[in-house]
Amino acid sequence: MTTTLITGANKGLGFETARQLLEAGHTVYLGSRDAERGRLAAAQLGARSIQLDITDDASVLAAAKAIEADGGLDVLINNAGVEERGAANAVIGPADVTADLMRETFETNVFGTVRVLHAFLPLLARSAAPVVVNLSSGLASLTRVAGIPAHVYPGVAYPASKTAVNMVTVQYAKAFPNMRINAVEPGFTKTDLNGNTGIQTVEQGAEIIVRMAQVGPDGPTGGYFDAEGTLPW
Ligand code: NAP
Repeated sequence: MTTTLITGANKGLGFETARQLLEAGHTVYLGSRDAERGRLAAAQLGARSIQLDITDDASVLAAAKAIEADGGLDVLINNAGVEERGAANAVIGPADVTADLMRETFETNVFGTVRVLHAFLPLLARSAAPVVVNLSSGLASLTRVAGIPAHVYPGVAYPASKTAVNMVTVQYAKAFPNMRINAVEPGFTKTDLNGNTGIQTVEQGAEIIVRMAQVGPDGPTGGYFDAEGTLPW
């Protein structure tokens, strides 16, 4: 039996990933920073609910202790994320981005991801087939974004945070060769993150997350993938 934790799974891609992995037979801990929203979402799916605010040490440590006491963890999906936007859902570009906005975005997307990794690595180390999936973005790719005209996507904080997630992924993958640790780009998906402007459904977006959550011991590690294959860094 594979036990999986998904952070930020009370809605959006995390919720759909939970649904698909439950269907595949995983025992799923549905993480939510709001305990009640998490309880309702987990009840809807038949998942286990766990309060988990990835910006809060005490919350993350309590979640790790509870899951350890319940038997441990095989798969960690670092899904919780934010994209700070301005009025009318406008992406905040270089003229308006502030240090505070960068800090807020990194606090969740980067520091939160590392906080969760740090707390759950000891549990994963005891699994026979440990797997980590980090939610990156196509906007994390320096190669890709350098080729996108400024008016198509002017944002700074969000893509920079996801580029940092890619580096975190590579360095952890090298340090823990027994684990499969990969970054994924789900594609532009209709969720609250982007004011529901995405063009894919959550079912489509979750596909690569679910696939990389089920990668076997001989599967890739330290990679960056979307549904079509490997992405350029
Ligand atoms: P979403 O519907 O807005 O869901 C984001 C989830 O993260 C929510 O459950 C939210 O909880 C949670 N969250 C935010 N801050 C948190 C914190 N401090 N602690 C715990 N949970 C927190 O967005 P989504 O599109 O599904 O995004 C999921 C992941 O996919 C993100 O990492 C995002 O960057 C990535 N991604 C999305 C797209 C896309 O097009 N949608 C594309 C590429 C990558 P609340 O409900 O409490 O706010």
